[in-house]
Amino acid sequence: MKRTKLVVYSRDQHQVSRDDMDPDAVRVLYRLHKNGHIAYLVGGGVRDLLLDRKPKDYDISTDAHPNRIKKLFRNAFLIGRRFRLAHIKFGEKIIETSTFRREPEVDKRAKGEFFHKHDNTFGTPEEDAHRRDFTINALFYNIADFSVIDYVGGLKDLQKRTIRCIGNPDIRFKEDPIRMLRAIRFAARMDFNIEPRTWRSLRRNAAEVITAAPPRLLEELYRFFGYSAGSASFAWLKRSLVMGVLFPELTAFIKARRGRAAEFEALLKAIDEGGDPYAPPKAELIFAVLLYGMFEVRCAEHIERGDHAGHEVVRELLEPLMPRLRIPRRIGDRLVHILDAQRRFDEQPGERRFSRERFMAQETFVDALDFYAIRTAAGQGDPATLEDWREWVKKDPPPEHAPRPTRRRRSGQRRRRGPRNDEAEE
Ligand code: ATP
Ligand code: MG
Repeated sequence: MKRTKLVVYSRDQHQVSRDDMDPDAVRVLYRLHKNGHIAYLVGGGVRDLLLDRKPKDYDISTDAHPNRIKKLFRNAFLIGRRFRLAHIKFGEKIIETSTFRREPEVDKRAKGEFFHKHDNTFGTPEEDAHRRDFTINALFYNIADFSVIDYVGGLKDLQKRTIRCIGNPDIRFKEDPIRMLRAIRFAARMDFNIEPRTWRSLRRNAAEVITAAPPRLLEELYRFFGYSAGSASFAWLKRSLVMGVLFPELTAFIKARRGRAAEFEALLKAIDEGGDPYAPPKAELIFAVLLYGMFEVRCAEHIERGDHAGHEVVRELLEPLMPRLRIPRRIGDRLVHILDAQRRFDEQPGERRFSRERFMAQETFVDALDFYAIRTAAGQGDPATLEDWREWVKKDPPPEHAPRPTRRRRSGQRRRRGPRNDEAEE
């Protein structure tokens, strides 16, 4: 593997500052350092600070082994099957602290049992940098002297606003196809370009995306919508050919009808603009945006044939999608109601034995109205009607439904994620 020469940028050569970091992350770094260990802030945290963005979470890497980390921090919890990762907890916040690792020597994609050739997959800082996905994600901030350590030319790429695979992109993408989605996500979110070799490889290997584990695919799909980047992400997905692999039905649909492509893009923009720009919107709303155009057209077709149109159409649309992305049944069920509810908003209350009260008491009503608001922002719903419904909600708030587990975490909490190397551990 071609290795770039190590470059160390001293504190006056970069703009990462402790003052901009989460104080608990700084605390963890110092405690490791004062106990004689190497302690680096790594990954997205360093990248975002260098870009003057507020990091979502903080990852730390160290030469301290997990058991040692556990001893140093009362609030450390070892996780993963092999306890190779420590979560250091501060209330809801988790500082993920991991021991330097190298690329595992076994291909975990192979089916069946596997064993580590060596039980020890820990590595040096350099090996740890090289196992990461993109150069901009492999920078280390060293608490010992406040320098930024760069084994892979990441800082130059960051300045050029470029996503570049570490190593041979064909190999890296085959090893872990999720990396293709990550490249797209970072390019969309930060408005970066993708370096030509990485880009050609991404297009060449697009079909492999579907071989990734469905839960990871789903997770990445949600992550596209964080930072209001849903629309930009789908533009990249389309160009990269990945969209046709993940969503062949939708891709064919908008290809065949230009007007529908514009409507879909308007919905994406609207979901980006509403809600919390930091966290992804609810899964139900994401899927509603993805399916709504097809839903409308299919409903019209069903009605023309004299068939029922509503629930069964949503079920039809979900049939290929649910197993592909392993969408939880609960979300599928809710989506049926949310999409079917859309026509209700445009109906005059009282029409056709339709009871507004009963409609508003439905558990999915609030989400359905949120989706109507997205449609309205996209120019596909009536603002006056939306206003009326919001008035009714104000006057007569829908009953509180039992809190249900949501996919969204409170800030600071993190979802399970990580490179394929982590998969077997978590
Ligand atoms: P975000 O801001 O979305 O959290 P991030 O870069 O921090 O972006 P994480 O998923 O939190 O992404 O991962 C933390 C770091 O772990 C990454 O910056 C990268 O160095 C490494 N990493 C994560 N996933 C992979 C992967 N699939 N292959 C290689 N390295 C990965
Ligand atoms: Mg992160």
